[in-house]
Amino acid sequence: MRTPAETAPNRPAAAVDNGLPLQVAVIGAGPSGCYAAQALRKGQPDIEIAVFDALPTPFGLVRYGIAPDHQGAKAVSRQFERLFGQPGVEFVGNVSVGTDVSLEALLENFHAVVLATGLGTDRRLGIDQDPDARVIGAGDLIRLLNSDPDARLRHRHGGPESLGSEVVILGTGNVSADVARLLSKSDLDFIASDVDDDALRAVAPNPVRTIHILGRCEPHAAKWDASMVKELAEIVGVHLSVDGVPLLGEPAASPRTTVSVRFQHVPISVRRLDGRVRVTTRRAGDSALVDHLDADTVITALGFDPSPAQSAQFGGVEASNVFRVGGPATGRLGNLAENRKLAADAAKGVLEFLRGQEPLHRTGLVGLRDRLPASVVSFEAWQRIDGAEVRRARPDRCRTKFTTRDELLAAAAGSGALVSIPTATPEAIDTTGEVK
Ligand SMILES: Cc1cc2nc3c(=O)[nH]c(=O)nc-3n(C[C@H](O)[C@H](O)[C@H](O)COP(=O)(O)OP(=O)(O)OC[C@H]3O[C@@H](n4cnc5c(N)ncnc54)[C@H](O)[C@@H]3O)c2cc1C
Repeated sequence: MRTPAETAPNRPAAAVDNGLPLQVAVIGAGPSGCYAAQALRKGQPDIEIAVFDALPTPFGLVRYGIAPDHQGAKAVSRQFERLFGQPGVEFVGNVSVGTDVSLEALLENFHAVVLATGLGTDRRLGIDQDPDARVIGAGDLIRLLNSDPDARLRHRHGGPESLGSEVVILGTGNVSADVARLLSKSDLDFIASDVDDDALRAVAPNPVRTIHILGRCEPHAAKWDASMVKELAEIVGVHLSVDGVPLLGEPAASPRTTVSVRFQHVPISVRRLDGRVRVTTRRAGDSALVDHLDADTVITALGFDPSPAQSAQFGGVEASNVFRVGGPATGRLGNLAENRKLAADAAKGVLEFLRGQEPLHRTGLVGLRDRLPASVVSFEAWQRIDGAEVRRARPDRCRTKFTTRDELLAAAAGSGALVSIPTATPEAIDTTGEVK
């Protein structure tokens, strides 16, 4: 097998005059940011990369999005761990760019900046809707069940509340199937997962009896993978039907949860009615056919948008040394395979840009040492959090995550908890003692 040095392009990237390495900042330690960092190192093994994340923990939605009972998909984090184990690649956790440190500060200190901030918000329904009707986002719900300390549902007044026994899920993508599966499972089905048991008990103190999934499209146009629907249908105690047709034979006498998928139902309003929610739909292709469906909660699974903070901080930023990967580039969250490819393309663009530039003097993290908050979490500190979460798990769970930033920072604490910013080399400091 060839080493990264052997597979690197022949022409080196422009080196700065004193031989200091090229410095790249990546904003976002989710898969897009990690894949981009991997590809940059593969293309230019001596490049130095600092990967910033607003959370104290790396891996973005691998940790807080991918469903807790899909540990196989979450295992991609192991290859990202190897990335951060390399000298010259730093995780700079618990630092929100735009709030704790400015984008301008990054641009002053790095040759290029890669925006890999994902899409932080569930896409809104955009139809006539009572403001107090109980409508929640699927992303928010899964963040809660994945112990995200910032999950909106955790922070609502009174904490997370029960979804009730009957829910409507709007959307027929993989996230919709994830939600239906998580709400259909019994405790035994979560063995070896890292589901947040307290959160699950709060939102589903009793089994969710009825799940209606509504899609606007025709069945063949549904965005979910067939394997996701099969997995849902195979849960013991679940009866799944699509447009009234049972998917796996006739239902058991008393299924624990009935999941019915209905296509070509276009939602036109969501109203609050007697403490419940009423979803009104019209049939695609025949607007005279109107249906009403009453439930306790409506869950939207319609894709994702940038959060208002992301739009405000990075929306209009256009500079030749700023690159975008994942959601900020495409407007879609995408899956891991898509984002890996996009990140490889973006890394190629970054390296081409750097090779075409006059050498500039940039000191990377060294130049930021006085501007970063004291509570920066290094990769080593993250590994302490990781170990503590695995150790505190009950025997039938693979980990029990901390659910607040305070708990995460406490687990991270200890010598080396704060990022060890490389000491400035003599060449990097000018005669006034300032970092250049
Ligand atoms: C419920 C759910 C289930 C999924 N299941 C699968 C699956 O099984 N298989 C699959 O392939 N894909 C799955 N995906 C999709 C997968 O999670 C995404 O493709 C992937 O996470 C996108 O990576 P990203 O890095 O672009 O964004 P994210 O994972 O969202 O990472 C973005 C990171 O940027 C950070 N950030 C944002 N703003 C700032 C800032 N200002 N400063 C510093 N940091 C910032 C965030 O904290 C976050 O860590 C799922 C997604 C969801 C929502």
